[in-house]
Amino acid sequence: MPTYAPVTLAGVATMAEVLTENTIHVLDHGFVRLDDAMASDLSVVNGARVSFARHKAEMDESDEGLIRFLMRDRHGTPFEHNAFRFHVRAPLFVAREWFRHRVGSFNEFSMRYAKASDEFYVPEPEDVRSQVGKPGAYSFEPVEPELAEQTRDELQAVYDAAYETYNRLVEQGVARELARLVMPMGAYTEFYWTVNARSLMNFVSLRAAETAQREIRRYAEACERFLAERMPVTHSAFVANGRVAP
Ligand SMILES: Cc1cc2nc3c(=O)[nH]c(=O)nc-3n(C[C@H](O)[C@H](O)[C@H](O)COP(=O)(O)OP(=O)(O)OC[C@H]3O[C@@H](n4cnc5c(N)ncnc54)[C@H](O)[C@@H]3O)c2cc1C
Repeated sequence: MPTYAPVTLAGVATMAEVLTENTIHVLDHGFVRLDDAMASDLSVVNGARVSFARHKAEMDESDEGLIRFLMRDRHGTPFEHNAFRFHVRAPLFVAREWFRHRVGSFNEFSMRYAKASDEFYVPEPEDVRSQVGKPGAYSFEPVEPELAEQTRDELQAVYDAAYETYNRLVEQGVARELARLVMPMGAYTEFYWTVNARSLMNFVSLRAAETAQREIRRYAEACERFLAERMPVTHSAFVANGRVAP
Protein backbone atom coordinates (compact mmCIF):
# COMPACT_ATOMS: atom_id res chain seq x y z
CA MET A 1 0.00 0.00 0.00
CA PRO A 2 1.36 3.46 -0.80
CA THR A 3 2.12 5.79 2.08
CA TYR A 4 0.96 9.39 2.26
CA ALA A 5 1.92 12.41 4.30
CA PRO A 6 -0.21 12.79 7.45
CA VAL A 7 -3.00 15.38 7.43
CA THR A 8 -5.71 16.46 9.82
CA LEU A 9 -9.32 16.53 8.72
CA ALA A 10 -11.50 18.95 10.63
CA GLY A 11 -14.90 18.63 12.09
CA VAL A 12 -16.85 15.42 11.87
CA ALA A 13 -17.02 12.99 14.77
CA THR A 14 -15.72 9.60 13.78
CA MET A 15 -14.37 6.50 15.44
CA ALA A 16 -12.01 5.85 12.54
CA GLU A 17 -8.48 7.16 12.84
CA VAL A 18 -7.05 9.42 10.14
CA LEU A 19 -3.53 8.20 9.49
CA THR A 20 -2.50 9.32 6.02
CA GLU A 21 -3.54 11.85 3.46
CA ASN A 22 -6.83 10.87 1.82
CA THR A 23 -6.84 7.57 3.70
CA ILE A 24 -8.84 6.78 6.81
CA HIS A 25 -7.98 3.45 8.37
CA VAL A 26 -11.02 1.49 9.50
CA LEU A 27 -11.19 -1.72 11.58
CA ASP A 28 -8.02 -3.82 11.87
CA HIS A 29 -6.96 -4.05 8.21
CA GLY A 30 -9.40 -1.84 6.32
CA PHE A 31 -9.45 1.68 4.97
CA VAL A 32 -11.40 4.23 3.00
CA ARG A 33 -9.20 6.17 0.60
CA LEU A 34 -10.54 9.03 -1.46
CA ASP A 35 -8.92 8.18 -4.77
CA ASP A 36 -10.26 11.26 -6.54
CA ALA A 37 -13.12 13.70 -6.36
CA MET A 38 -14.84 16.24 -8.54
CA ALA A 39 -16.89 17.74 -5.77
CA SER A 40 -17.68 21.24 -4.52
CA ASP A 41 -20.58 23.16 -3.01
CA LEU A 42 -20.44 25.40 -6.05
CA SER A 43 -21.49 22.50 -8.29
CA VAL A 44 -24.75 22.30 -6.32
CA VAL A 45 -25.31 26.05 -6.61
CA ASN A 46 -24.70 26.13 -10.36
CA GLY A 47 -26.78 23.01 -10.92
CA ALA A 48 -29.69 24.86 -9.32
CA ARG A 49 -29.01 28.34 -10.72
CA VAL A 50 -28.96 27.17 -14.34
CA SER A 51 -32.75 27.18 -14.02
CA PHE A 52 -32.45 30.97 -14.11
CA ALA A 53 -29.51 31.05 -16.58
CA ARG A 54 -27.22 32.12 -13.72
CA HIS A 55 -23.68 30.93 -13.01
CA LYS A 56 -21.48 31.71 -10.00
CA ALA A 57 -17.70 31.46 -9.90
CA GLU A 58 -17.52 31.78 -6.11
CA MET A 59 -19.78 30.92 -3.21
CA ASP A 60 -21.38 33.67 -1.16
CA GLU A 61 -23.91 33.71 1.69
CA SER A 62 -26.91 33.57 -0.64
CA ASP A 63 -25.49 30.38 -2.16
CA GLU A 64 -25.20 28.82 1.27
CA GLY A 65 -28.85 29.73 1.87
CA LEU A 66 -29.74 28.18 -1.47
CA ILE A 67 -28.05 24.89 -0.52
CA ARG A 68 -29.90 24.85 2.80
CA PHE A 69 -33.19 25.47 0.96
CA LEU A 70 -32.50 22.70 -1.60
CA MET A 71 -31.67 20.27 1.19
CA ARG A 72 -34.68 21.19 3.32
CA ASP A 73 -37.19 21.07 0.46
CA ARG A 74 -35.62 17.92 -0.98
CA HIS A 75 -34.64 19.31 -4.37
CA GLY A 76 -32.15 16.48 -4.80
CA THR A 77 -30.86 16.67 -8.36
CA PRO A 78 -28.49 19.67 -7.92
CA PHE A 79 -26.55 17.45 -5.48
CA GLU A 80 -25.78 15.00 -8.29
CA HIS A 81 -23.30 17.14 -10.30
CA ASN A 82 -20.20 15.80 -8.59
CA ALA A 83 -18.38 12.53 -7.98
CA PHE A 84 -16.38 10.88 -5.23
CA ARG A 85 -14.22 7.90 -6.16
CA PHE A 86 -13.42 5.83 -3.09
CA HIS A 87 -11.01 2.94 -2.80
CA VAL A 88 -12.21 0.74 0.06
CA ARG A 89 -10.79 -2.25 1.89
CA ALA A 90 -13.45 -3.97 3.98
CA PRO A 91 -14.50 -7.43 5.18
CA LEU A 92 -16.83 -9.32 2.85
CA PHE A 93 -19.84 -8.88 5.16
CA VAL A 94 -19.40 -5.10 5.08
CA ALA A 95 -18.94 -5.07 1.29
CA ARG A 96 -22.08 -7.13 0.90
CA GLU A 97 -24.12 -4.52 2.79
CA TRP A 98 -22.40 -1.73 0.88
CA PHE A 99 -23.17 -3.22 -2.55
CA ARG A 100 -26.90 -2.98 -1.84
CA HIS A 101 -26.55 0.75 -2.58
CA ARG A 102 -27.43 0.68 -6.27
CA VAL A 103 -26.92 4.32 -7.13
CA GLY A 104 -23.18 4.39 -7.71
CA SER A 105 -20.59 2.25 -9.50
CA PHE A 106 -18.53 -0.59 -8.09
CA ASN A 107 -15.58 -2.66 -9.22
CA GLU A 108 -14.27 -5.31 -6.84
CA PHE A 109 -11.11 -7.38 -6.43
CA SER A 110 -11.65 -10.80 -8.01
CA MET A 111 -10.92 -13.99 -6.14
CA ARG A 112 -11.28 -15.77 -9.50
CA TYR A 113 -8.27 -14.02 -10.98
CA ALA A 114 -6.06 -13.20 -8.00
CA LYS A 115 -5.05 -14.89 -4.79
CA ALA A 116 -7.27 -14.11 -1.83
CA SER A 117 -5.91 -11.86 0.91
CA ASP A 118 -4.69 -13.56 4.07
CA GLU A 119 -6.14 -10.77 6.23
CA PHE A 120 -9.32 -11.28 8.18
CA TYR A 121 -11.36 -9.10 10.52
CA VAL A 122 -10.96 -9.85 14.21
CA PRO A 123 -13.02 -7.39 16.28
CA GLU A 124 -11.37 -5.56 19.14
CA PRO A 125 -12.47 -7.01 22.52
CA GLU A 126 -14.77 -4.02 23.14
CA ASP A 127 -16.49 -4.68 19.81
CA VAL A 128 -17.43 -8.24 20.70
CA ARG A 129 -21.04 -7.74 21.68
CA SER A 130 -24.26 -9.49 22.53
CA GLN A 131 -27.55 -8.88 20.73
CA VAL A 132 -30.56 -8.30 22.94
CA GLY A 133 -34.16 -7.64 21.94
CA LYS A 134 -36.26 -8.00 18.81
CA PRO A 135 -35.44 -7.49 15.11
CA GLY A 136 -35.46 -3.76 14.39
CA ALA A 137 -34.98 -2.93 18.06
CA TYR A 138 -31.84 -4.74 19.12
CA SER A 139 -29.48 -3.34 21.67
CA PHE A 140 -25.86 -4.41 21.61
CA GLU A 141 -24.10 -4.85 24.92
CA PRO A 142 -20.45 -5.64 25.63
CA VAL A 143 -19.76 -9.23 26.66
CA GLU A 144 -17.57 -10.40 29.53
CA PRO A 145 -13.83 -10.07 28.75
CA GLU A 146 -13.38 -13.86 28.78
CA LEU A 147 -16.07 -14.34 26.12
CA ALA A 148 -14.59 -11.51 24.05
CA GLU A 149 -11.17 -13.20 24.07
CA GLN A 150 -12.69 -16.60 23.35
CA THR A 151 -14.61 -15.16 20.37
CA ARG A 152 -11.47 -13.55 18.99
CA ASP A 153 -9.49 -16.79 19.44
CA GLU A 154 -12.18 -18.89 17.79
CA LEU A 155 -12.48 -16.50 14.85
CA GLN A 156 -8.71 -16.57 14.37
CA ALA A 157 -8.67 -20.39 14.48
CA VAL A 158 -11.39 -20.59 11.81
CA TYR A 159 -9.56 -18.01 9.66
CA ASP A 160 -6.26 -19.90 9.95
CA ALA A 161 -7.91 -23.21 9.04
CA ALA A 162 -9.83 -21.65 6.13
CA TYR A 163 -6.78 -19.97 4.68
CA GLU A 164 -4.66 -23.09 5.11
CA THR A 165 -7.31 -25.12 3.23
CA TYR A 166 -7.60 -22.42 0.54
CA ASN A 167 -3.83 -22.42 -0.05
CA ARG A 168 -3.63 -26.20 -0.10
CA LEU A 169 -6.47 -26.56 -2.62
CA VAL A 170 -4.94 -23.90 -4.89
CA GLU A 171 -1.52 -25.57 -4.68
CA GLN A 172 -3.12 -28.93 -5.56
CA GLY A 173 -4.55 -27.37 -8.72
CA VAL A 174 -8.10 -26.45 -7.74
CA ALA A 175 -9.26 -23.25 -9.49
CA ARG A 176 -9.25 -20.14 -7.33
CA GLU A 177 -12.91 -19.60 -8.23
CA LEU A 178 -13.73 -22.82 -6.35
CA ALA A 179 -11.09 -22.72 -3.63
CA ARG A 180 -12.51 -19.35 -2.52
CA LEU A 181 -15.64 -21.10 -1.27
CA VAL A 182 -13.86 -21.75 2.01
CA MET A 183 -13.30 -18.04 2.63
CA PRO A 184 -15.30 -16.70 5.60
CA MET A 185 -17.32 -13.47 5.73
CA GLY A 186 -14.53 -11.86 7.76
CA ALA A 187 -12.08 -12.02 4.82
CA TYR A 188 -11.05 -8.65 3.44
CA THR A 189 -11.89 -7.53 -0.08
CA GLU A 190 -11.18 -4.31 -1.98
CA PHE A 191 -13.32 -2.26 -4.29
CA TYR A 192 -13.71 1.09 -5.99
CA TRP A 193 -16.93 3.01 -5.44
CA THR A 194 -17.84 6.08 -7.44
CA VAL A 195 -20.84 7.96 -6.16
CA ASN A 196 -22.41 11.41 -6.25
CA ALA A 197 -23.14 13.47 -3.15
CA ARG A 198 -26.86 12.77 -3.17
CA SER A 199 -26.35 9.01 -3.14
CA LEU A 200 -23.44 9.35 -0.72
CA MET A 201 -25.71 11.22 1.70
CA ASN A 202 -28.28 8.44 1.36
CA PHE A 203 -25.56 5.91 2.19
CA VAL A 204 -24.34 7.97 5.17
CA SER A 205 -27.89 8.55 6.36
CA LEU A 206 -28.57 4.81 6.46
CA ARG A 207 -25.16 3.38 7.29
CA ALA A 208 -23.75 5.91 9.76
CA ALA A 209 -26.98 5.61 11.75
CA GLU A 210 -27.22 3.89 15.10
CA THR A 211 -29.38 1.18 13.52
CA ALA A 212 -26.61 0.14 11.10
CA GLN A 213 -24.12 -2.57 11.97
CA ARG A 214 -21.18 -1.13 13.87
CA GLU A 215 -18.57 -2.16 11.30
CA ILE A 216 -20.17 -0.57 8.21
CA ARG A 217 -21.00 2.41 10.37
CA ARG A 218 -17.32 3.12 10.82
CA TYR A 219 -16.82 3.01 7.06
CA ALA A 220 -19.79 5.34 6.54
CA GLU A 221 -18.31 7.76 9.10
CA ALA A 222 -15.06 7.75 7.14
CA CYS A 223 -16.89 8.49 3.88
CA GLU A 224 -18.77 11.27 5.65
CA ARG A 225 -15.52 12.96 6.63
CA PHE A 226 -14.56 13.23 2.98
CA LEU A 227 -17.99 14.64 2.13
CA ALA A 228 -17.60 17.22 4.91
CA GLU A 229 -14.12 18.14 3.71
CA ARG A 230 -15.02 18.56 0.03
CA MET A 231 -18.57 19.93 0.36
CA PRO A 232 -18.76 21.58 3.80
CA VAL A 233 -21.91 23.65 3.19
CA THR A 234 -23.75 20.67 1.74
CA HIS A 235 -22.63 18.52 4.65
CA SER A 236 -23.76 20.97 7.30
CA ALA A 237 -27.11 21.41 5.56
CA PHE A 238 -27.43 17.59 5.53
CA VAL A 239 -26.72 17.46 9.27
CA ALA A 240 -29.12 20.36 9.97
CA ASN A 241 -31.77 18.52 7.95
CA GLY A 242 -31.68 15.58 10.35
CA ARG A 243 -29.19 13.65 8.20
CA VAL A 244 -31.88 12.89 5.61
CA ALA A 245 -30.61 12.84 2.02
CA PRO A 246 -32.49 15.23 -0.30
C1 LIG B 1 -30.15 -0.93 9.07
C2 LIG B 1 -30.37 -1.62 7.75
C3 LIG B 1 -30.87 -2.90 7.72
C4 LIG B 1 -31.08 -3.54 6.49
N1 LIG B 1 -31.57 -4.82 6.48
C5 LIG B 1 -31.80 -5.43 5.30
C6 LIG B 1 -32.31 -6.77 5.26
O1 LIG B 1 -32.57 -7.38 6.27
N2 LIG B 1 -32.50 -7.34 4.05
C7 LIG B 1 -32.26 -6.67 2.88
O2 LIG B 1 -32.47 -7.23 1.79
N3 LIG B 1 -31.76 -5.42 2.89
C8 LIG B 1 -31.51 -4.80 4.06
N4 LIG B 1 -31.00 -3.53 4.07
C9 LIG B 1 -30.65 -2.89 2.79
C10 LIG B 1 -31.72 -1.88 2.36
O3 LIG B 1 -32.96 -2.51 2.14
C11 LIG B 1 -31.28 -1.15 1.07
O4 LIG B 1 -31.12 -2.11 0.04
C12 LIG B 1 -29.97 -0.43 1.22
O5 LIG B 1 -29.93 0.29 2.43
C13 LIG B 1 -29.79 0.53 0.04
O6 LIG B 1 -30.64 1.64 0.24
P1 LIG B 1 -31.27 2.45 -0.98
O7 LIG B 1 -32.14 1.55 -1.79
O8 LIG B 1 -31.88 3.67 -0.39
O9 LIG B 1 -29.94 2.88 -1.79
P2 LIG B 1 -29.70 2.87 -3.35
O10 LIG B 1 -29.89 1.51 -3.90
O11 LIG B 1 -28.37 3.53 -3.56
O12 LIG B 1 -30.84 3.76 -3.92
C14 LIG B 1 -30.85 5.18 -3.66
C15 LIG B 1 -32.25 5.69 -3.85
O13 LIG B 1 -32.61 5.57 -5.23
C16 LIG B 1 -33.98 5.21 -5.34
N5 LIG B 1 -34.07 3.90 -5.99
C17 LIG B 1 -33.04 3.07 -6.29
N6 LIG B 1 -33.50 1.98 -6.91
C18 LIG B 1 -34.84 2.10 -6.99
C19 LIG B 1 -35.88 1.29 -7.49
N7 LIG B 1 -35.66 0.09 -8.03
N8 LIG B 1 -37.13 1.73 -7.40
C20 LIG B 1 -37.42 2.93 -6.85
N9 LIG B 1 -36.48 3.75 -6.33
C21 LIG B 1 -35.20 3.34 -6.40
C22 LIG B 1 -34.54 5.20 -3.92
O14 LIG B 1 -35.04 6.48 -3.62
C23 LIG B 1 -33.31 4.94 -3.08
O15 LIG B 1 -33.42 5.40 -1.74
C24 LIG B 1 -30.78 -2.88 5.28
C25 LIG B 1 -30.28 -1.57 5.33
C26 LIG B 1 -30.05 -0.95 6.53
C27 LIG B 1 -29.49 0.46 6.54
